Amino acid sequence: MLTNILGYPRIGSQRELKKACELYWSGKSTFKNLFQVGRNLRQQNWQLQKDAGIDLIPCNDFSFYDHVLDMSLMVSAIPERYHEVILNKSNTETDLYFAMARGYQKEGLDITAMEMTKWFDTNYHYIVPEFQKDQQFRMLSTKVIDEFYEAKQLGILTKPVLIGPVSYLLLGKEKSEGFHRIDLIKNLLPVYIELLKRLDSLNVQWVQFDEPFLALDLSEKEKQAFTYVYSEIRKEFPTLKTIVATYFDGLRDNVKLATSLPVCALHLDLVRNPAQLDDVLENISDKMTLSLGVVDGRNIWINDYAKSLTLIEKATARITADRIMIAPSCSLIHSPCDLTLETNDTVLLPEIKRWMAFARQKLHEVSTLKQLATPGAASPALQENQQALENRKTSTRIHHNDVKRRVAAITDADARRTNPFATRRKKQTASLKLPLYPTTTIGSFPQTADVRNWRAQWKKGELTQTQYDDLLKAETKKTVYWQEDIGIDVLVHGEFERNDMVEYFGEQLDGYTFSKNGWVQSYGSRCVKPPIVFGDVSRPKPMTVAWTKYAQSLTPKPVKGMLTGPVTILQWSFVRDDQPRSETAFQIALAIRDEVVDLERAGIKVIQIDEPAIREGLPLRRAEWQQYLQWAVKAFRISASGVRDETQIHTHMCYSEFNDIIQNIADMDADVITIECSRSQMELLDAFADFNYPNEIGPGVYDIHSPRVPSREEMVSLMRKASAVVPAEQLWVNPDCGLKTRHWDETKRALIEMVEAAKELRAAV
Ligand code: GLN
Ligand code: ZN
Repeated sequence: MLTNILGYPRIGSQRELKKACELYWSGKSTFKNLFQVGRNLRQQNWQLQKDAGIDLIPCNDFSFYDHVLDMSLMVSAIPERYHEVILNKSNTETDLYFAMARGYQKEGLDITAMEMTKWFDTNYHYIVPEFQKDQQFRMLSTKVIDEFYEAKQLGILTKPVLIGPVSYLLLGKEKSEGFHRIDLIKNLLPVYIELLKRLDSLNVQWVQFDEPFLALDLSEKEKQAFTYVYSEIRKEFPTLKTIVATYFDGLRDNVKLATSLPVCALHLDLVRNPAQLDDVLENISDKMTLSLGVVDGRNIWINDYAKSLTLIEKATARITADRIMIAPSCSLIHSPCDLTLETNDTVLLPEIKRWMAFARQKLHEVSTLKQLATPGAASPALQENQQALENRKTSTRIHHNDVKRRVAAITDADARRTNPFATRRKKQTASLKLPLYPTTTIGSFPQTADVRNWRAQWKKGELTQTQYDDLLKAETKKTVYWQEDIGIDVLVHGEFERNDMVEYFGEQLDGYTFSKNGWVQSYGSRCVKPPIVFGDVSRPKPMTVAWTKYAQSLTPKPVKGMLTGPVTILQWSFVRDDQPRSETAFQIALAIRDEVVDLERAGIKVIQIDEPAIREGLPLRRAEWQQYLQWAVKAFRISASGVRDETQIHTHMCYSEFNDIIQNIADMDADVITIECSRSQMELLDAFADFNYPNEIGPGVYDIHSPRVPSREEMVSLMRKASAVVPAEQLWVNPDCGLKTRHWDETKRALIEMVEAAKELRAAV
């Protein structure tokens, strides 16, 4: 039996890579320094895995920015627009690489970055490969060979990890007409073959091809591509040990396809889909090795050894132990680095810490499982593990019967406003007296360096609570008065007290804990530190009421209460694995509902519940969408439905395509929805128009992701486009998203123009 790691966090336990990249980008360090940091990280990671007794240690899982972009450079899939960067002789391959990742503004050139999108259902973002009809590929970057060689020099024979050719193509996008990217497979494969030849000559043993698409819905053509690719590789390299790795879902209808591929080993994600093991065992040939992904690579809880051993035993009952590998479910880049760095017992209680495992701890889980699966092994580790799990199962820190009872008692009526939208709307119109094309913003206003410094000082104890509050109050007051001055209709308080829209609520909810160093790469040098839901969630006291009430006290205009919705809070946290996600979502929903009711009681007439992450929670397989959407929409509705008809509920969504879930968005039944729209020139609004979306909509007219200030005419024309497809009485005028990352000067100029645009639209009616 072997232990197999699919990939290890490359960012470094102290975020060394982040810091090194950012220094290099700002021109404050040389490439030599950056390269040295990369080298050290790789070496540390390999050594760590070796010391933990891992047999198959990956290489090429390291990346300066993104492993998909690495592949693009490897096969020379470089979009035309970067050729000027290449022509400049002083630019290195790395300059080209970062230009593709981040754009290039130098020497009179202004080249946009490549598009970035989410890696399946994770919060990791990859750089989307761009393909042209009949595109040719050739081997360019030799990164994988260099890294394999580097490890070999250190005395470690690693397993190179490549994105498999089929998945690599499917991850990309066609940038010209008249072809499907999978048609390029014949052009692409020779580069892989050449690469494997080079690795082969260095005596490589195992090579891992990541093919996560094998666990997704596939077309006939895509299925054929899998068979074609791996048969060709087999023909060229009859003795090479190839592993095809799948993850994030089960093989399901692709079991026959996957087990018939002429590869040596197949990796399965048995955390996401343990049921596939039976299917696979039934279909597996008598030579293929199985890599059992039993340790969760996507979460931070310790493994249940007894449960994993049951799966391992199921496999050993059918195939011999020498054909079995034990592994995490997927690459560990989705896990934080090292739990032993969490030394502050008041931040992370020792009892809770005992239930947790980060990447480094997961290495030990994998090798411990191998020991435990060996017949006759002594099992103190198993005992200790089962005790920790038993403690978790029964801990009074986790379980609160009143919370569980409240969720169990949720009725349909709790998830429904008292009256339908048409009735509510009349009452809201009478109460709010808003003009046609009402103006508002999405919530946050610029978080200046000052604001962030105050928070840092307050956390360090250098500012007292009162001092901190007074500073924030002054900032809020300034913001409210300014909005009033320029004539915005529905104001916000500005969210200056929030560091992050999820963490802020997590910090105030029971059932949440935090880490100090639990960083996970999100994209490039950006990392996130998701809060951790460990127990039943409840709200000990109001969270936002004081700030909103204060802002409302400053103005006769309505101030919008600002909350994050239950699905987004869930989606951007590490969550419990001892109950369904839906259960946790309902607990959070009730906490938000109480907050909404308290805001109403405090005299707040408009309340926004943000759900930007509702779409990204969609399961990878279409067959499961409705089930997810059903509880997700219900959770939102529970949070929104405790108020009177007169209270106007807003929601907000960004970076989404809405077409395929528009019915579900309508089912959320928010009185107003604001969406990101300006970059798509209102195209995203079409889904709402085609559907005859009944409630009110604010399609964003100002792209807040760019420092650019849109002109009045531009915003007027965007709104004209909108009113051509949605009746004017249903429309709001607002930016695409919160203004937190913008500067005050550009924000002011843009919002003044936005208000003037709304006036112009009203005058023209
Ligand atoms: N209310 C939040 C803000 O304005 C919304 C952020 C988001 O949609 N990502 O910052
Ligand atoms: Zn947004």
